Amino acid sequence: MVYKWLMNASMLKPLFLLWATTGLIAATQPDVISLFDKRALVKPITEIEGILSDGSKSTVYKVVVRSLPTDHTMGPWAPATLKDKGGYWEDTVDKKLHRVDADYLKLLNKRGWNMFEADGTVHHTKDRTEFDKVARQELGGWSYDEALKAGVTNSVIELQPLEQIVTIFLPKNPQASAKPTMLRQARFSPRSGLGISTNGVRFFPPEPVDRITAFHNIAPLDPKGGHTGFGHEYHYHRAPSVMDNDQTGKVVGFALDGFPVRGPTEPDGSKPKDLDAIHGHDHGGLGYHYHVTDVWPYILGGFKGPLGTASLGDVDTCDATKTGGDGGKGGKGPKGGKGGEGKKGPPGGGGPPEGK
Ligand SMILES: [Zn+2]
Ligand SMILES: [Zn+2]
Repeated sequence: MVYKWLMNASMLKPLFLLWATTGLIAATQPDVISLFDKRALVKPITEIEGILSDGSKSTVYKVVVRSLPTDHTMGPWAPATLKDKGGYWEDTVDKKLHRVDADYLKLLNKRGWNMFEADGTVHHTKDRTEFDKVARQELGGWSYDEALKAGVTNSVIELQPLEQIVTIFLPKNPQASAKPTMLRQARFSPRSGLGISTNGVRFFPPEPVDRITAFHNIAPLDPKGGHTGFGHEYHYHRAPSVMDNDQTGKVVGFALDGFPVRGPTEPDGSKPKDLDAIHGHDHGGLGYHYHVTDVWPYILGGFKGPLGTASLGDVDTCDATKTGGDGGKGGKGPKGGKGGEGKKGPPGGGGPPEGK
C-alpha cells in the first residue's frame, strides 16, 4: 500500500512541476479567454497570426464582440425634466463629477447657459439628426455663434446606442516597447478604442469636455461611465469598476497592447502605488498591468507595447500598421473584410474624442 502510494507520488511529480510552471505563467499572463464575459462574445475567442502597430508579427487573440453590455443597463444620460436625474458630467470649472440634475443645470444657467424651459423640460438631443449636428459642429470647428444659428447648443447631448459587431485583436504575449507610447502618438481607431472591457465594451480616451462645453453642451456618462459616440457605439470614458468603487483589483479588461487593465485597487484592496506615466506598473508577480482610476486619464495614459487593432464586423485579418493614427481624431479603422466599414460615422469621421 505504502509502496503503491510512493510510486504514484513519483509519477505525479513531473505533472506537479508542469502544473507549477503553468501556474507561474498564468500569474503574469492572465487567461484572456476565460476572463471575457461569454455573453459579450459573438463566437469563441480564437488565435491568429497578425501584424502589430510596430510591424512585428505576433499571435493575436481574435475577439468578436457585440459592443453592448449584458451585465448592466445603459443610461440615463439626459434628465427629461428638472425633476429627473440624468448621468454624470465632469464640470470644466470646478473639475468635479456632478450628477446632472436640477441643481447642476441651474448652476449652468447661472453661468449664462440656457439648459431648460420654464416648465422644467430639459433641452437634449432628441434624435440622430440633432446628434449629427453636434458631430458636425464639434469636428468641423464651428464657432459658438455659428452653432447657435444652425447647430445644437445649450443641450444635454445623448444618443441611444446600437449593437455593433466588432472584431478586436489583442496580442497574446504582450511585449514592452523600448519606451511607452503616449495617447496622442498612439495609432488606435474608433473601432478599437484604447482597449476593451471584459464585458465587450470599448474603453475610450478622456472626454474632450472643453470641446463640448464650447457650445454650452454637456455629454454625460451614465452611472457605469459610458455613453454613445458619433458612430453609435457605446463606450466607456470611466471604468464601471471605478464608478462602482470595486475593491477586488480584478482584471476588468485589456489594453490594445494586450496588457491587462485592473480595477481601481490592487487585489488586496490597497491603492496602486508608483503608477507610471501611462498608468501602469509591475509588481508582486502580477506582470505589467494598468489600473483604472477616478482621476485623469481615468483608464490609460498610453501603451506599454505595440498595439493590436480592430475592425467593424467579423474579420480575419489583423494588420495594425494600417490603423489610422493621430490619437483616433477622425481616424478610420483598417479596411475590414466582410461587413467591415459598413457603417460610416457622420461627416468628420466620428473618431473617439482625443485626450485632453
Ligand atoms: Zn464619448
Ligand atoms: Zn497594480
